[in-house]
Amino acid sequence: MIKGLYIHIPFCDQICTYCDFCKMVTSDHTKKEYMKALVKELEYYSDLVSHIETIYIGGGTPSSLDDDLIEAFLDELETIVDMNSIKEFTIETNPNDITEKFLTMLKTHHITRVSMGVQSLNENLLNFLGRTHKPETVFHAIELLKKSKLNFNLDFLYAIPGQTKENLLKDLNFISEFKPHHISYYSLILEDKTVLNYLINKHKVEDFDDDKARDFGEIIDEKLISFGYEKYEISNYSLPEYKSKHNLLYWNLDEYLGIGLYASSQFNHIRMINPKKISKYLKEIEDKSLTMHQLEDFNPQLETLLVGLRKTEGIELDAYKEKFNQDVFTIYPELKKHLENKLLKIEEGRLKFTKEGMYLSNQVFVDII
Ligand code: SF4
Repeated sequence: MIKGLYIHIPFCDQICTYCDFCKMVTSDHTKKEYMKALVKELEYYSDLVSHIETIYIGGGTPSSLDDDLIEAFLDELETIVDMNSIKEFTIETNPNDITEKFLTMLKTHHITRVSMGVQSLNENLLNFLGRTHKPETVFHAIELLKKSKLNFNLDFLYAIPGQTKENLLKDLNFISEFKPHHISYYSLILEDKTVLNYLINKHKVEDFDDDKARDFGEIIDEKLISFGYEKYEISNYSLPEYKSKHNLLYWNLDEYLGIGLYASSQFNHIRMINPKKISKYLKEIEDKSLTMHQLEDFNPQLETLLVGLRKTEGIELDAYKEKFNQDVFTIYPELKKHLENKLLKIEEGRLKFTKEGMYLSNQVFVDII
Protein backbone atom coordinates (compact mmCIF):
# COMPACT_ATOMS: atom_id res chain seq x y z
CA MET A 1 0.00 0.00 0.00
CA ILE A 2 1.34 3.40 -0.95
CA LYS A 3 1.95 5.43 2.21
CA GLY A 4 3.69 8.56 0.95
CA LEU A 5 3.58 11.02 -1.92
CA TYR A 6 6.64 12.93 -3.14
CA ILE A 7 6.10 15.95 -5.39
CA HIS A 8 9.09 17.36 -7.24
CA ILE A 9 9.36 21.07 -8.04
CA PRO A 10 12.63 21.46 -9.96
CA PHE A 11 12.85 25.27 -9.98
CA CYS A 12 15.49 27.36 -8.24
CA ASP A 13 16.37 31.06 -8.31
CA GLN A 14 20.03 30.18 -8.82
CA ILE A 15 22.14 27.06 -9.18
CA CYS A 16 24.42 26.21 -6.26
CA THR A 17 28.01 25.21 -6.97
CA TYR A 18 27.73 21.76 -5.36
CA CYS A 19 24.27 20.71 -6.51
CA ASP A 20 23.56 17.67 -8.68
CA PHE A 21 19.81 17.46 -7.99
CA CYS A 22 17.24 17.68 -10.76
CA LYS A 23 16.83 21.45 -10.84
CA MET A 24 16.74 24.42 -13.22
CA VAL A 25 16.25 28.16 -13.51
CA THR A 26 13.41 28.80 -15.94
CA SER A 27 10.67 31.19 -17.11
CA ASP A 28 7.36 31.91 -15.38
CA HIS A 29 5.61 30.41 -18.39
CA THR A 30 7.35 27.03 -17.97
CA LYS A 31 6.64 27.05 -14.24
CA LYS A 32 2.93 27.53 -14.93
CA GLU A 33 2.89 24.74 -17.53
CA TYR A 34 4.73 22.46 -15.16
CA MET A 35 2.33 23.03 -12.28
CA LYS A 36 -0.61 22.26 -14.57
CA ALA A 37 1.14 19.06 -15.67
CA LEU A 38 1.71 18.05 -12.05
CA VAL A 39 -2.02 18.32 -11.36
CA LYS A 40 -2.75 16.10 -14.37
CA GLU A 41 -0.25 13.52 -13.17
CA LEU A 42 -1.75 13.63 -9.69
CA GLU A 43 -5.24 13.14 -11.09
CA TYR A 44 -4.02 10.11 -13.01
CA TYR A 45 -2.83 8.49 -9.76
CA SER A 46 -5.74 9.75 -7.63
CA ASP A 47 -6.84 6.23 -6.59
CA LEU A 48 -3.37 5.41 -5.32
CA VAL A 49 -2.91 8.54 -3.21
CA SER A 50 -6.35 9.24 -1.79
CA HIS A 51 -5.46 7.82 1.66
CA ILE A 52 -1.74 8.28 2.09
CA GLU A 53 -0.02 9.26 5.36
CA THR A 54 2.70 11.68 4.32
CA ILE A 55 3.34 14.24 1.59
CA TYR A 56 6.69 15.85 0.81
CA ILE A 57 7.08 18.71 -1.67
CA GLY A 58 10.77 18.90 -2.52
CA GLY A 59 13.04 20.19 -5.20
CA GLY A 60 14.65 22.27 -6.43
CA THR A 61 13.16 25.00 -4.32
CA PRO A 62 9.36 24.72 -4.14
CA SER A 63 9.12 28.05 -2.29
CA SER A 64 10.71 29.84 -5.27
CA LEU A 65 7.35 29.55 -7.03
CA ASP A 66 4.94 32.47 -6.71
CA ASP A 67 2.63 31.95 -3.74
CA ASP A 68 -0.38 31.94 -6.09
CA LEU A 69 1.01 29.04 -8.10
CA ILE A 70 1.72 26.99 -4.98
CA GLU A 71 -1.68 27.78 -3.53
CA ALA A 72 -3.49 26.79 -6.74
CA PHE A 73 -1.65 23.46 -6.70
CA LEU A 74 -2.44 22.88 -3.01
CA ASP A 75 -6.12 23.56 -3.72
CA GLU A 76 -6.10 20.80 -6.34
CA LEU A 77 -4.18 18.45 -4.08
CA GLU A 78 -6.87 18.77 -1.41
CA THR A 79 -9.52 17.59 -3.84
CA ILE A 80 -7.56 14.37 -4.47
CA VAL A 81 -5.94 13.47 -1.15
CA ASP A 82 -7.94 13.03 2.04
CA MET A 83 -6.11 15.49 4.30
CA ASN A 84 -7.57 13.83 7.41
CA SER A 85 -5.32 10.83 6.80
CA ILE A 86 -2.15 12.95 6.53
CA LYS A 87 0.24 12.62 9.48
CA GLU A 88 2.97 14.86 8.09
CA PHE A 89 3.07 17.28 5.17
CA THR A 90 6.44 18.91 4.43
CA ILE A 91 7.54 21.60 1.99
CA GLU A 92 11.14 22.56 1.25
CA THR A 93 11.94 26.26 1.35
CA ASN A 94 14.68 28.79 0.92
CA PRO A 95 15.10 31.33 3.79
CA ASN A 96 14.56 34.20 1.32
CA ASP A 97 11.02 33.01 0.62
CA ILE A 98 9.73 32.81 4.19
CA THR A 99 7.12 35.48 4.96
CA GLU A 100 4.27 35.56 7.45
CA LYS A 101 1.76 35.45 4.58
CA PHE A 102 3.47 32.45 2.99
CA LEU A 103 3.48 30.48 6.26
CA THR A 104 -0.17 31.30 6.92
CA MET A 105 -1.03 30.05 3.44
CA LEU A 106 0.87 26.79 4.09
CA LYS A 107 -1.00 26.21 7.34
CA THR A 108 -4.34 26.88 5.69
CA HIS A 109 -3.47 24.11 3.25
CA HIS A 110 -2.61 21.49 5.89
CA ILE A 111 1.18 21.75 5.63
CA THR A 112 2.62 20.73 9.00
CA ARG A 113 6.35 20.94 8.44
CA VAL A 114 8.81 23.29 6.73
CA SER A 115 12.28 22.15 5.71
CA MET A 116 14.61 25.08 5.14
CA GLY A 117 18.02 24.97 3.45
CA VAL A 118 20.35 26.98 5.69
CA GLN A 119 23.64 25.11 4.96
CA SER A 120 25.81 27.57 6.93
CA LEU A 121 25.59 30.86 8.77
CA ASN A 122 28.89 32.10 7.45
CA GLU A 123 28.43 34.62 4.66
CA ASN A 124 31.65 33.69 2.83
CA LEU A 125 30.75 30.02 2.83
CA LEU A 126 27.21 30.80 1.64
CA ASN A 127 28.66 32.82 -1.24
CA PHE A 128 31.09 30.03 -2.03
CA LEU A 129 28.22 27.53 -2.16
CA GLY A 130 26.28 29.84 -4.47
CA ARG A 131 23.44 30.37 -2.00
CA THR A 132 21.60 33.68 -2.25
CA HIS A 133 20.50 34.10 1.36
CA LYS A 134 22.35 35.91 4.13
CA PRO A 135 22.69 34.87 7.77
CA GLU A 136 20.27 37.69 8.77
CA THR A 137 17.64 36.26 6.41
CA VAL A 138 17.89 32.95 8.26
CA PHE A 139 17.41 34.65 11.66
CA HIS A 140 14.33 36.44 10.39
CA ALA A 141 12.90 33.28 8.80
CA ILE A 142 13.38 31.35 12.06
CA GLU A 143 11.53 34.02 14.02
CA LEU A 144 8.60 33.71 11.62
CA LEU A 145 8.70 29.92 11.72
CA LYS A 146 8.66 29.93 15.51
CA LYS A 147 5.76 32.35 15.52
CA SER A 148 3.85 30.17 13.03
CA LYS A 149 4.20 27.14 15.36
CA LEU A 150 4.95 24.97 12.31
CA ASN A 151 7.28 22.07 12.88
CA PHE A 152 10.56 22.80 11.06
CA ASN A 153 13.74 21.16 9.84
CA LEU A 154 16.98 22.97 9.00
CA ASP A 155 19.47 21.56 6.49
CA PHE A 156 23.15 22.19 7.25
CA LEU A 157 26.37 21.23 5.48
CA TYR A 158 29.82 20.49 6.82
CA ALA A 159 33.16 19.71 5.19
CA ILE A 160 32.68 22.75 2.95
CA PRO A 161 36.05 23.76 1.46
CA GLY A 162 37.36 26.63 3.59
CA GLN A 163 35.09 25.86 6.57
CA THR A 164 36.90 26.20 9.90
CA LYS A 165 36.14 24.60 13.23
CA GLU A 166 35.11 28.05 14.46
CA ASN A 167 32.55 28.33 11.60
CA LEU A 168 31.19 24.91 12.54
CA LEU A 169 30.89 25.75 16.23
CA LYS A 170 29.04 28.96 15.40
CA ASP A 171 26.49 27.01 13.36
CA LEU A 172 26.08 24.54 16.21
CA ASN A 173 25.64 27.39 18.74
CA PHE A 174 22.94 28.79 16.52
CA ILE A 175 21.18 25.42 16.58
CA SER A 176 21.37 25.27 20.39
CA GLU A 177 19.86 28.75 20.59
CA PHE A 178 16.99 28.28 18.12
CA LYS A 179 16.34 24.57 18.64
CA PRO A 180 14.69 23.51 15.36
CA HIS A 181 12.61 20.35 15.73
CA HIS A 182 14.80 18.51 13.27
CA ILE A 183 18.27 18.85 11.72
CA SER A 184 19.67 17.27 8.57
CA TYR A 185 23.44 17.69 8.73
CA TYR A 186 25.11 16.45 5.54
CA SER A 187 28.77 16.14 4.73
CA LEU A 188 29.33 18.01 1.46
CA ILE A 189 29.81 15.37 -1.22
CA LEU A 190 31.70 16.20 -4.37
CA GLU A 191 29.38 15.29 -7.23
CA ASP A 192 30.31 14.95 -10.91
CA LYS A 193 29.20 17.72 -13.26
CA THR A 194 29.12 20.40 -10.58
CA VAL A 195 31.00 23.70 -10.55
CA LEU A 196 32.62 22.71 -7.28
CA ASN A 197 33.92 19.47 -8.72
CA TYR A 198 35.37 21.36 -11.68
CA LEU A 199 37.10 23.88 -9.40
CA ILE A 200 38.63 21.15 -7.26
CA ASN A 201 39.77 19.13 -10.27
CA LYS A 202 41.43 22.26 -11.69
CA HIS A 203 43.10 22.84 -8.30
CA LYS A 204 41.42 26.20 -7.95
CA VAL A 205 39.83 25.11 -4.69
CA GLU A 206 41.33 22.76 -2.13
CA ASP A 207 39.22 19.73 -1.28
CA PHE A 208 38.24 19.23 2.35
CA ASP A 209 40.53 16.88 4.25
CA ASP A 210 38.90 13.48 5.07
CA ASP A 211 40.27 13.28 8.63
CA LYS A 212 39.06 16.78 9.36
CA ALA A 213 35.63 15.89 7.96
CA ARG A 214 35.51 12.91 10.31
CA ASP A 215 36.44 15.19 13.28
CA PHE A 216 33.70 17.63 12.26
CA GLY A 217 31.21 14.75 12.07
CA GLU A 218 32.11 13.70 15.61
CA ILE A 219 31.76 17.26 16.92
CA ILE A 220 28.32 17.54 15.30
CA ASP A 221 27.15 14.26 16.86
CA GLU A 222 28.47 15.15 20.27
CA LYS A 223 27.02 18.68 20.31
CA LEU A 224 23.61 17.84 18.88
CA ILE A 225 23.17 14.94 21.28
CA SER A 226 24.15 17.24 24.17
CA PHE A 227 21.47 19.73 22.97
CA GLY A 228 18.82 16.99 23.31
CA TYR A 229 18.68 15.68 19.73
CA GLU A 230 18.50 12.01 18.88
CA LYS A 231 20.58 10.84 15.94
CA TYR A 232 18.27 8.40 14.18
CA GLU A 233 19.87 8.22 10.74
CA ILE A 234 23.39 8.77 9.39
CA SER A 235 22.72 12.47 8.71
CA ASN A 236 19.49 13.17 10.60
CA TYR A 237 18.73 14.28 14.14
CA SER A 238 15.47 15.11 15.84
CA LEU A 239 14.04 16.32 19.10
CA PRO A 240 11.87 13.60 20.68
CA GLU A 241 8.74 12.90 18.60
CA TYR A 242 9.95 14.90 15.57
CA LYS A 243 11.55 12.24 13.36
CA SER A 244 10.66 12.77 9.72
CA LYS A 245 7.77 10.40 9.04
CA HIS A 246 8.13 10.79 5.28
CA ASN A 247 11.86 10.07 5.19
CA LEU A 248 11.31 7.08 7.46
CA LEU A 249 9.11 5.64 4.71
CA TYR A 250 12.17 5.58 2.46
CA TRP A 251 14.41 4.14 5.16
CA ASN A 252 11.83 1.45 6.00
CA LEU A 253 11.42 0.65 2.29
CA ASP A 254 7.70 1.42 2.46
CA GLU A 255 5.81 2.14 -0.75
CA TYR A 256 5.62 5.68 -2.10
CA LEU A 257 4.65 7.48 -5.27
CA GLY A 258 6.73 10.29 -6.73
CA ILE A 259 5.27 12.75 -9.23
CA GLY A 260 7.01 15.41 -11.30
CA LEU A 261 10.26 15.62 -13.16
CA TYR A 262 12.67 12.74 -12.48
CA ALA A 263 10.64 11.72 -9.42
CA SER A 264 11.03 8.10 -8.40
CA SER A 265 8.39 5.74 -7.03
CA GLN A 266 8.62 2.43 -5.28
CA PHE A 267 5.71 0.04 -5.08
CA ASN A 268 4.82 -3.57 -6.00
CA HIS A 269 8.50 -4.45 -5.47
CA ILE A 270 9.69 -2.30 -8.34
CA ARG A 271 11.25 1.15 -8.54
CA MET A 272 10.31 3.51 -11.33
CA ILE A 273 11.38 6.94 -12.44
CA ASN A 274 9.86 9.77 -14.46
CA PRO A 275 11.64 11.45 -17.41
CA LYS A 276 14.47 13.84 -16.57
CA LYS A 277 13.95 16.24 -19.47
CA ILE A 278 11.23 18.80 -18.82
CA SER A 279 10.15 19.06 -22.48
CA LYS A 280 9.64 15.27 -22.57
CA TYR A 281 7.76 15.26 -19.25
CA LEU A 282 5.43 18.10 -20.34
CA LYS A 283 4.80 16.55 -23.74
CA GLU A 284 4.05 13.11 -22.35
CA ILE A 285 1.62 14.56 -19.82
CA GLU A 286 -0.04 16.55 -22.62
CA ASP A 287 -0.29 13.44 -24.83
CA LYS A 288 -1.41 11.31 -21.89
CA SER A 289 1.53 9.03 -22.70
CA LEU A 290 3.62 9.52 -19.57
CA THR A 291 5.19 6.24 -18.53
CA MET A 292 7.50 5.74 -15.63
CA HIS A 293 10.69 4.00 -16.56
CA GLN A 294 11.32 0.88 -14.47
CA LEU A 295 14.75 0.70 -12.85
CA GLU A 296 16.03 -2.81 -13.44
CA ASP A 297 18.56 -2.89 -10.68
CA PHE A 298 16.07 -2.55 -7.81
CA ASN A 299 16.80 -5.39 -5.41
CA PRO A 300 14.57 -5.43 -2.29
CA GLN A 301 16.99 -7.65 -0.31
CA LEU A 302 19.84 -5.22 -0.89
CA GLU A 303 17.73 -2.06 -0.54
CA THR A 304 16.26 -3.21 2.78
CA LEU A 305 19.78 -3.65 4.08
CA LEU A 306 21.14 -0.39 2.65
CA VAL A 307 18.34 1.86 3.86
CA GLY A 308 17.87 -0.06 7.12
CA LEU A 309 21.50 0.34 8.10
CA ARG A 310 21.25 4.09 7.56
CA LYS A 311 19.01 4.20 10.65
CA THR A 312 20.77 4.06 14.00
CA GLU A 313 18.33 1.31 15.05
CA GLY A 314 19.51 -0.82 12.09
CA ILE A 315 17.54 -3.81 10.79
CA GLU A 316 15.67 -6.49 12.70
CA LEU A 317 17.34 -9.78 11.81
CA ASP A 318 14.32 -12.05 12.36
CA ALA A 319 12.04 -9.79 10.34
CA TYR A 320 14.58 -9.71 7.51
CA LYS A 321 14.82 -13.52 7.49
CA GLU A 322 11.06 -13.90 7.53
CA LYS A 323 10.62 -11.43 4.65
CA PHE A 324 13.26 -12.96 2.37
CA ASN A 325 13.32 -16.59 3.61
CA GLN A 326 17.04 -16.30 4.10
CA ASP A 327 19.39 -15.03 6.74
CA VAL A 328 21.02 -11.67 5.88
CA PHE A 329 24.49 -13.18 6.52
CA THR A 330 23.80 -15.96 4.02
CA ILE A 331 22.84 -13.44 1.33
CA TYR A 332 25.63 -10.99 2.26
CA PRO A 333 28.49 -12.99 3.89
CA GLU A 334 30.72 -9.86 3.66
CA LEU A 335 28.79 -8.48 6.64
CA LYS A 336 30.54 -10.96 8.96
CA LYS A 337 33.90 -9.30 8.29
CA HIS A 338 32.47 -5.98 9.45
CA LEU A 339 31.13 -7.57 12.64
CA GLU A 340 34.66 -8.77 13.32
CA ASN A 341 36.28 -5.42 12.59
CA LYS A 342 33.60 -3.75 14.74
CA LEU A 343 32.03 -1.50 12.14
CA LEU A 344 28.81 -3.46 12.69
CA LYS A 345 27.27 -4.99 15.80
CA ILE A 346 24.23 -7.05 16.77
CA GLU A 347 22.18 -5.66 19.62
CA GLU A 348 18.82 -7.00 20.80
CA GLY A 349 18.35 -8.91 17.56
CA ARG A 350 19.17 -5.93 15.36
CA LEU A 351 22.12 -5.45 13.02
CA LYS A 352 23.42 -1.90 13.20
CA PHE A 353 26.48 0.27 12.79
CA THR A 354 28.77 0.87 15.75
CA LYS A 355 29.67 4.52 16.42
CA GLU A 356 32.86 4.01 14.39
CA GLY A 357 30.90 2.22 11.66
CA MET A 358 28.56 5.21 11.21
CA TYR A 359 31.54 7.33 10.15
CA LEU A 360 32.94 4.59 7.91
CA SER A 361 29.60 3.33 6.57
CA ASN A 362 30.81 3.56 2.97
CA GLN A 363 33.35 0.79 3.61
CA VAL A 364 30.45 -1.53 4.44
CA PHE A 365 28.14 -0.30 1.68
CA VAL A 366 30.84 -0.73 -0.96
CA ASP A 367 31.35 -4.35 0.11
CA ILE A 368 27.70 -5.34 -0.16
CA ILE A 369 26.64 -3.50 -3.32
S1 SF4 B 1 18.74 25.63 -4.00
FE1 SF4 B 1 18.91 23.41 -3.58
S2 SF4 B 1 18.15 22.39 -5.43
FE2 SF4 B 1 18.52 24.54 -5.98
S3 SF4 B 1 20.57 24.54 -6.84
FE3 SF4 B 1 20.80 25.03 -4.64
S4 SF4 B 1 21.10 23.03 -3.64
FE4 SF4 B 1 20.33 22.63 -5.70
